[in-house]
Amino acid sequence: MKTISLLGSTGSVGRNCLRVAEELPGEFRVIALAAGRNTTELADQVGRFHPELVSVSTSEAATTLAQNLKNLDPSAHPEIVVGEEGLLRVATHPETDLVVSAIVGVAGLAPTCRAIECGKQIALANKEVLVVAGELVTELAQRNGVQLLPVDSEHNAIHQCLRCGQADEVARVILTASGGPFLGYSSEQLSRVTPEMALRHPTWKMGDRITVDSATLMNKGMEVLEARWLFDLDVDQISVWVHPQSIVHSMVEFVDGSVIAQLGITDMGQPLLYALNYPRRLPGRRPRLNLNQAAKLEFMHPDSGKFPCLDLAYQAARELGALPCTLNAADEVAVEAFLQRKIDFPGIPRIVARMMEQANGVGKFSSIAEILEYDESVRRETRRLIQKDFS
Ligand code: MG
Repeated sequence: MKTISLLGSTGSVGRNCLRVAEELPGEFRVIALAAGRNTTELADQVGRFHPELVSVSTSEAATTLAQNLKNLDPSAHPEIVVGEEGLLRVATHPETDLVVSAIVGVAGLAPTCRAIECGKQIALANKEVLVVAGELVTELAQRNGVQLLPVDSEHNAIHQCLRCGQADEVARVILTASGGPFLGYSSEQLSRVTPEMALRHPTWKMGDRITVDSATLMNKGMEVLEARWLFDLDVDQISVWVHPQSIVHSMVEFVDGSVIAQLGITDMGQPLLYALNYPRRLPGRRPRLNLNQAAKLEFMHPDSGKFPCLDLAYQAARELGALPCTLNAADEVAVEAFLQRKIDFPGIPRIVARMMEQANGVGKFSSIAEILEYDESVRRETRRLIQKDFS
Protein backbone atom coordinates (compact mmCIF):
# COMPACT_ATOMS: atom_id res chain seq x y z
CA MET A 1 0.00 0.00 0.00
CA LYS A 2 1.31 3.46 -0.92
CA THR A 3 1.07 6.15 1.75
CA ILE A 4 0.28 9.59 0.42
CA SER A 5 0.27 13.19 1.62
CA LEU A 6 -1.89 15.59 -0.32
CA LEU A 7 -1.09 19.30 -0.54
CA GLY A 8 -4.18 21.15 -1.78
CA SER A 9 -6.83 18.54 -1.00
CA THR A 10 -9.94 20.70 -1.59
CA GLY A 11 -8.93 22.07 -5.00
CA SER A 12 -9.95 20.34 -8.22
CA VAL A 13 -6.75 18.26 -8.47
CA GLY A 14 -6.96 17.35 -4.77
CA ARG A 15 -10.57 16.19 -5.02
CA ASN A 16 -9.78 14.15 -8.13
CA CYS A 17 -6.81 12.59 -6.37
CA LEU A 18 -9.00 11.41 -3.50
CA ARG A 19 -11.54 10.07 -5.99
CA VAL A 20 -8.79 7.95 -7.54
CA ALA A 21 -7.81 6.68 -4.07
CA GLU A 22 -11.44 5.67 -3.49
CA GLU A 23 -11.62 3.91 -6.84
CA LEU A 24 -8.72 1.68 -5.81
CA PRO A 25 -9.51 0.41 -2.31
CA GLY A 26 -6.51 -1.08 -0.55
CA GLU A 27 -3.96 0.70 -2.76
CA PHE A 28 -3.53 3.97 -0.87
CA ARG A 29 -3.40 5.20 2.67
CA VAL A 30 -4.05 8.95 2.84
CA ILE A 31 -2.04 9.96 5.88
CA ALA A 32 -1.96 13.76 5.67
CA LEU A 33 -4.07 16.47 4.01
CA ALA A 34 -3.42 20.18 3.55
CA ALA A 35 -6.10 22.62 2.47
CA GLY A 36 -6.77 26.35 2.74
CA ARG A 37 -10.04 27.50 4.27
CA ASN A 38 -12.61 25.11 2.83
CA THR A 39 -13.20 23.38 6.16
CA THR A 40 -16.55 21.86 5.17
CA GLU A 41 -15.01 19.91 2.31
CA LEU A 42 -11.96 19.10 4.40
CA ALA A 43 -14.08 17.74 7.28
CA ASP A 44 -15.86 15.51 4.78
CA GLN A 45 -12.46 14.26 3.51
CA VAL A 46 -11.30 13.56 7.07
CA GLY A 47 -14.43 11.46 7.62
CA ARG A 48 -13.76 9.47 4.45
CA PHE A 49 -9.98 8.91 4.76
CA HIS A 50 -9.09 9.25 8.46
CA PRO A 51 -5.73 11.01 7.95
CA GLU A 52 -3.42 11.37 10.96
CA LEU A 53 -2.50 14.96 10.14
CA VAL A 54 -4.45 17.86 8.64
CA SER A 55 -3.23 21.36 7.84
CA VAL A 56 -5.28 24.51 7.24
CA SER A 57 -4.16 28.05 6.39
CA THR A 58 -5.27 29.94 9.53
CA SER A 59 -6.03 29.30 13.20
CA GLU A 60 -9.66 30.41 12.60
CA ALA A 61 -9.94 27.68 9.96
CA ALA A 62 -8.45 25.21 12.45
CA THR A 63 -11.13 26.10 15.02
CA THR A 64 -13.92 25.75 12.46
CA LEU A 65 -12.52 22.42 11.29
CA ALA A 66 -12.39 21.10 14.87
CA GLN A 67 -16.08 22.10 15.26
CA ASN A 68 -16.94 20.42 11.94
CA LEU A 69 -15.34 17.23 13.21
CA LYS A 70 -17.14 17.07 16.56
CA ASN A 71 -19.47 14.26 15.45
CA LEU A 72 -16.52 12.14 14.35
CA ASP A 73 -15.36 9.29 16.58
CA PRO A 74 -12.66 10.81 18.86
CA SER A 75 -10.18 8.06 17.93
CA ALA A 76 -10.41 9.21 14.29
CA HIS A 77 -9.55 12.84 15.06
CA PRO A 78 -6.46 14.03 13.21
CA GLU A 79 -3.84 16.37 14.58
CA ILE A 80 -4.63 19.84 13.15
CA VAL A 81 -1.73 22.09 12.17
CA VAL A 82 -1.67 25.58 10.69
CA GLY A 83 0.01 27.82 8.10
CA GLU A 84 3.35 27.38 6.37
CA GLU A 85 4.65 25.18 9.18
CA GLY A 86 1.58 22.99 8.80
CA LEU A 87 2.20 22.60 5.08
CA LEU A 88 5.77 21.50 5.76
CA ARG A 89 4.57 18.92 8.31
CA VAL A 90 2.15 17.43 5.76
CA ALA A 91 4.82 17.43 3.03
CA THR A 92 7.37 15.66 5.22
CA HIS A 93 5.25 13.21 7.23
CA PRO A 94 7.69 10.40 8.08
CA GLU A 95 5.42 7.63 6.79
CA THR A 96 4.60 9.28 3.47
CA ASP A 97 5.90 7.64 0.27
CA LEU A 98 4.36 10.04 -2.23
CA VAL A 99 3.46 13.73 -1.92
CA VAL A 100 0.84 15.09 -4.30
CA SER A 101 1.77 18.73 -4.83
CA ALA A 102 -1.48 20.40 -5.85
CA ILE A 103 -1.44 23.75 -4.07
CA VAL A 104 -1.89 26.51 -6.62
CA GLY A 105 0.76 29.21 -6.86
CA VAL A 106 4.18 29.87 -5.32
CA ALA A 107 2.83 28.79 -1.90
CA GLY A 108 3.44 25.23 -3.09
CA LEU A 109 7.13 25.81 -3.71
CA ALA A 110 8.64 25.51 -0.21
CA PRO A 111 6.68 22.41 0.91
CA THR A 112 7.41 20.63 -2.38
CA CYS A 113 11.13 21.31 -2.01
CA ARG A 114 11.12 20.05 1.57
CA ALA A 115 9.35 16.86 0.48
CA ILE A 116 12.04 16.32 -2.17
CA GLU A 117 14.77 16.87 0.44
CA CYS A 118 13.14 14.12 2.50
CA GLY A 119 13.30 11.79 -0.52
CA LYS A 120 9.52 11.63 -1.06
CA GLN A 121 8.28 10.82 -4.55
CA ILE A 122 6.36 13.76 -6.00
CA ALA A 123 3.23 13.80 -8.11
CA LEU A 124 3.47 17.35 -9.38
CA ALA A 125 0.34 19.28 -10.27
CA ASN A 126 1.62 22.70 -9.25
CA LYS A 127 2.92 24.49 -12.37
CA GLU A 128 4.70 27.30 -10.57
CA VAL A 129 7.14 24.92 -8.87
CA LEU A 130 8.90 24.30 -12.18
CA VAL A 131 8.08 27.57 -13.91
CA VAL A 132 9.70 29.80 -11.30
CA ALA A 133 12.24 27.42 -9.77
CA GLY A 134 12.82 24.75 -12.44
CA GLU A 135 16.58 24.71 -12.20
CA LEU A 136 16.74 24.55 -8.39
CA VAL A 137 13.96 21.99 -8.10
CA THR A 138 15.24 19.60 -10.77
CA GLU A 139 18.76 19.73 -9.29
CA LEU A 140 17.32 19.04 -5.85
CA ALA A 141 15.29 16.11 -7.18
CA GLN A 142 18.34 14.63 -8.90
CA ARG A 143 20.47 14.96 -5.80
CA ASN A 144 17.83 13.19 -3.69
CA GLY A 145 16.98 10.51 -6.25
CA VAL A 146 13.40 11.75 -6.48
CA GLN A 147 11.25 11.34 -9.57
CA LEU A 148 8.88 14.17 -10.43
CA LEU A 149 5.74 12.55 -11.83
CA PRO A 150 3.77 15.12 -13.81
CA VAL A 151 0.04 15.42 -13.21
CA ASP A 152 -0.46 18.18 -15.79
CA SER A 153 -2.18 16.22 -18.59
CA GLU A 154 0.29 17.22 -21.34
CA HIS A 155 3.41 16.36 -19.35
CA ASN A 156 1.78 13.23 -18.05
CA ALA A 157 1.17 12.26 -21.69
CA ILE A 158 4.79 12.99 -22.60
CA HIS A 159 5.98 10.96 -19.61
CA GLN A 160 3.98 8.01 -20.96
CA CYS A 161 5.16 8.48 -24.57
CA LEU A 162 8.82 8.67 -23.47
CA ARG A 163 8.60 5.09 -22.22
CA CYS A 164 8.74 4.07 -25.92
CA GLY A 165 12.38 5.13 -26.37
CA GLN A 166 15.62 6.37 -24.80
CA ALA A 167 16.22 10.00 -23.83
CA ASP A 168 18.83 10.48 -26.60
CA GLU A 169 16.35 9.14 -29.17
CA VAL A 170 13.91 12.02 -28.66
CA ALA A 171 13.76 14.53 -31.52
CA ARG A 172 11.12 16.77 -29.95
CA VAL A 173 7.98 16.84 -27.89
CA ILE A 174 4.71 18.32 -29.12
CA LEU A 175 2.47 19.87 -26.49
CA THR A 176 -1.14 20.11 -27.56
CA ALA A 177 -3.34 23.07 -26.63
CA SER A 178 -7.11 23.31 -26.85
CA GLY A 179 -6.62 26.87 -28.14
CA GLY A 180 -9.04 28.16 -25.53
CA PRO A 181 -12.43 29.75 -26.14
CA PHE A 182 -11.11 32.51 -28.45
CA LEU A 183 -9.49 30.40 -31.13
CA GLY A 184 -9.95 32.23 -34.44
CA TYR A 185 -11.05 35.54 -32.85
CA SER A 186 -9.91 38.77 -34.55
CA SER A 187 -7.82 41.31 -32.60
CA GLU A 188 -10.90 43.50 -32.44
CA GLN A 189 -13.00 40.67 -30.96
CA LEU A 190 -10.23 39.89 -28.45
CA SER A 191 -10.31 43.48 -27.16
CA ARG A 192 -13.99 43.00 -26.25
CA VAL A 193 -13.56 39.74 -24.34
CA THR A 194 -15.13 39.86 -20.85
CA PRO A 195 -14.12 37.88 -17.75
CA GLU A 196 -17.31 35.78 -18.11
CA MET A 197 -16.32 34.82 -21.64
CA ALA A 198 -12.74 33.97 -20.60
CA LEU A 199 -13.92 31.77 -17.73
CA ARG A 200 -15.88 29.51 -20.07
CA HIS A 201 -13.27 26.92 -21.13
CA PRO A 202 -14.37 24.64 -23.98
CA THR A 203 -12.96 21.31 -22.73
CA TRP A 204 -11.46 21.50 -19.20
CA LYS A 205 -13.02 22.56 -15.88
CA MET A 206 -10.34 24.33 -13.81
CA GLY A 207 -9.63 27.24 -11.45
CA ASP A 208 -10.05 30.89 -12.58
CA ARG A 209 -6.45 31.85 -13.23
CA ILE A 210 -5.57 28.73 -15.21
CA THR A 211 -8.79 29.11 -17.23
CA VAL A 212 -7.85 32.68 -18.23
CA ASP A 213 -4.26 31.51 -18.82
CA SER A 214 -5.65 28.88 -21.19
CA ALA A 215 -7.52 31.59 -23.09
CA THR A 216 -4.38 33.76 -23.49
CA LEU A 217 -2.18 30.66 -24.18
CA MET A 218 -0.03 31.68 -21.18
CA ASN A 219 -0.89 28.32 -19.68
CA LYS A 220 0.67 26.60 -22.69
CA GLY A 221 3.68 28.90 -22.45
CA MET A 222 4.18 27.91 -18.82
CA GLU A 223 3.88 24.29 -19.90
CA VAL A 224 6.80 24.85 -22.31
CA LEU A 225 8.87 25.86 -19.28
CA GLU A 226 7.61 22.88 -17.29
CA ALA A 227 8.49 20.49 -20.14
CA ARG A 228 11.93 22.03 -20.49
CA TRP A 229 12.78 21.12 -16.87
CA LEU A 230 10.84 17.89 -16.47
CA PHE A 231 12.36 16.23 -19.52
CA ASP A 232 15.67 18.12 -19.74
CA LEU A 233 14.99 19.44 -23.26
CA ASP A 234 16.30 22.32 -25.33
CA VAL A 235 13.58 24.90 -25.85
CA ASP A 236 13.83 24.24 -29.61
CA GLN A 237 12.80 20.64 -28.99
CA ILE A 238 9.41 21.77 -27.66
CA SER A 239 6.61 22.53 -30.12
CA VAL A 240 3.05 23.60 -29.41
CA TRP A 241 0.14 22.62 -31.65
CA VAL A 242 -3.43 23.72 -31.20
CA HIS A 243 -5.75 20.69 -31.07
CA PRO A 244 -9.27 21.88 -30.24
CA GLN A 245 -10.67 18.43 -29.38
CA SER A 246 -8.12 17.92 -26.52
CA ILE A 247 -8.09 14.16 -27.15
CA VAL A 248 -4.40 13.83 -28.00
CA HIS A 249 -2.88 15.05 -24.75
CA SER A 250 0.63 15.41 -26.20
CA MET A 251 3.14 13.59 -28.41
CA VAL A 252 6.79 12.68 -28.65
CA GLU A 253 8.63 12.54 -31.97
CA PHE A 254 11.66 10.22 -31.96
CA VAL A 255 14.76 10.57 -34.14
CA ASP A 256 13.53 7.89 -36.56
CA GLY A 257 10.43 9.98 -37.31
CA SER A 258 8.01 7.89 -35.26
CA VAL A 259 5.50 9.98 -33.37
CA ILE A 260 3.98 8.45 -30.22
CA ALA A 261 0.82 10.13 -28.92
CA GLN A 262 -1.15 9.61 -25.72
CA LEU A 263 -4.92 9.88 -26.09
CA GLY A 264 -7.64 10.00 -23.51
CA ILE A 265 -10.80 11.68 -22.32
CA THR A 266 -10.51 15.18 -20.82
CA ASP A 267 -10.51 14.09 -17.19
CA MET A 268 -8.02 15.24 -14.59
CA GLY A 269 -8.38 11.89 -12.82
CA GLN A 270 -6.72 10.06 -15.69
CA PRO A 271 -3.22 11.56 -15.28
CA LEU A 272 -3.60 11.18 -11.50
CA LEU A 273 -4.43 7.49 -11.89
CA TYR A 274 -1.16 7.13 -13.83
CA ALA A 275 1.03 9.25 -11.54
CA LEU A 276 -0.25 7.76 -8.27
CA ASN A 277 0.27 4.19 -9.44
CA TYR A 278 3.46 4.65 -11.44
CA PRO A 279 5.25 2.46 -12.52
CA ARG A 280 2.17 0.20 -12.49
CA ARG A 281 -1.05 0.70 -14.42
CA LEU A 282 -4.23 -0.11 -12.54
CA PRO A 283 -7.81 -0.10 -13.80
CA GLY A 284 -9.69 2.91 -12.49
CA ARG A 285 -13.42 3.35 -12.80
CA ARG A 286 -13.49 6.18 -15.30
CA PRO A 287 -15.20 6.55 -18.65
CA ARG A 288 -13.24 5.35 -21.67
CA LEU A 289 -12.29 7.25 -24.78
CA ASN A 290 -14.66 6.57 -27.64
CA LEU A 291 -12.90 7.50 -30.85
CA ASN A 292 -16.07 6.82 -32.87
CA GLN A 293 -17.68 9.76 -31.16
CA ALA A 294 -14.62 11.96 -31.53
CA ALA A 295 -15.33 12.17 -35.29
CA LYS A 296 -12.15 14.06 -36.22
CA LEU A 297 -8.90 15.28 -34.75
CA GLU A 298 -7.54 18.64 -35.92
CA PHE A 299 -4.09 20.15 -35.42
CA MET A 300 -2.91 23.66 -36.29
CA HIS A 301 -0.18 26.13 -35.47
CA PRO A 302 -0.96 28.62 -32.71
CA ASP A 303 -1.47 32.24 -33.77
CA SER A 304 1.29 33.87 -31.77
CA GLY A 305 0.48 37.30 -33.22
CA LYS A 306 -2.92 37.33 -31.54
CA PHE A 307 -1.79 35.35 -28.48
CA PRO A 308 1.63 36.88 -27.60
CA CYS A 309 1.84 35.12 -24.21
CA LEU A 310 3.17 31.97 -25.87
CA ASP A 311 6.16 33.79 -27.38
CA LEU A 312 6.81 35.61 -24.11
CA ALA A 313 7.05 32.25 -22.36
CA TYR A 314 9.38 30.87 -25.07
CA GLN A 315 11.57 33.94 -24.54
CA ALA A 316 11.60 33.31 -20.78
CA ALA A 317 12.44 29.63 -21.36
CA ARG A 318 15.37 30.58 -23.65
CA GLU A 319 16.86 33.39 -21.58
CA LEU A 320 15.95 32.09 -18.10
CA GLY A 321 17.47 34.21 -15.27
CA ALA A 322 14.62 36.05 -13.59
CA LEU A 323 12.36 36.00 -16.65
CA PRO A 324 10.29 32.88 -15.87
CA CYS A 325 9.56 34.14 -12.36
CA THR A 326 8.69 37.59 -13.74
CA LEU A 327 6.42 36.06 -16.36
CA ASN A 328 4.50 34.05 -13.78
CA ALA A 329 4.11 36.79 -11.15
CA ALA A 330 3.21 39.54 -13.64
CA ASP A 331 0.70 37.27 -15.35
CA GLU A 332 -1.02 36.32 -12.11
CA VAL A 333 -1.46 39.98 -11.15
CA ALA A 334 -2.56 40.93 -14.68
CA VAL A 335 -5.15 38.13 -14.77
CA GLU A 336 -6.49 39.31 -11.41
CA ALA A 337 -6.78 42.87 -12.80
CA PHE A 338 -8.57 41.55 -15.90
CA LEU A 339 -11.06 39.60 -13.76
CA GLN A 340 -11.69 42.80 -11.77
CA ARG A 341 -12.25 44.65 -15.08
CA LYS A 342 -9.31 47.00 -14.49
CA ILE A 343 -7.64 46.03 -17.79
CA ASP A 344 -8.83 44.49 -21.06
CA PHE A 345 -7.91 41.02 -22.31
CA PRO A 346 -5.04 42.12 -24.62
CA GLY A 347 -3.68 44.10 -21.65
CA ILE A 348 -2.55 40.84 -20.01
CA PRO A 349 0.34 40.11 -22.44
CA ARG A 350 1.17 43.82 -22.69
CA ILE A 351 1.70 44.03 -18.94
CA VAL A 352 3.71 40.81 -18.81
CA ALA A 353 5.92 42.06 -21.67
CA ARG A 354 6.54 45.38 -19.90
CA MET A 355 7.54 43.61 -16.68
CA MET A 356 9.85 41.25 -18.58
CA GLU A 357 11.61 44.23 -20.21
CA GLN A 358 12.27 45.65 -16.76
CA ALA A 359 13.59 42.31 -15.51
CA ASN A 360 16.08 41.77 -18.30
CA GLY A 361 19.54 41.40 -16.88
CA VAL A 362 18.40 40.19 -13.45
CA GLY A 363 20.45 37.03 -12.82
CA LYS A 364 19.59 33.58 -11.66
CA PHE A 365 18.51 32.72 -8.12
CA SER A 366 20.42 30.63 -5.64
CA SER A 367 17.63 29.87 -3.17
CA ILE A 368 13.86 29.48 -2.85
CA ALA A 369 13.81 32.39 -0.38
CA GLU A 370 15.41 34.63 -3.00
CA ILE A 371 12.82 33.55 -5.57
CA LEU A 372 9.91 34.24 -3.22
CA GLU A 373 11.27 37.67 -2.37
CA TYR A 374 11.75 38.54 -6.05
CA ASP A 375 8.26 37.16 -6.85
CA GLU A 376 6.75 39.52 -4.26
CA SER A 377 8.61 42.51 -5.71
CA VAL A 378 7.37 41.72 -9.25
CA ARG A 379 3.80 41.55 -7.95
CA ARG A 380 4.15 44.95 -6.29
CA GLU A 381 5.69 46.51 -9.40
CA THR A 382 3.03 45.00 -11.66
CA ARG A 383 0.23 46.45 -9.50
CA ARG A 384 1.94 49.82 -9.67
CA LEU A 385 2.29 49.59 -13.46
CA ILE A 386 -1.39 48.72 -13.86
CA GLN A 387 -2.45 51.63 -11.71
CA LYS A 388 -0.14 54.08 -13.47
CA ASP A 389 -0.44 53.12 -17.15
CA PHE A 390 -3.44 50.85 -17.56
CA SER A 391 -6.30 52.44 -15.68
MG1 MG B 1 -2.13 21.29 -19.00
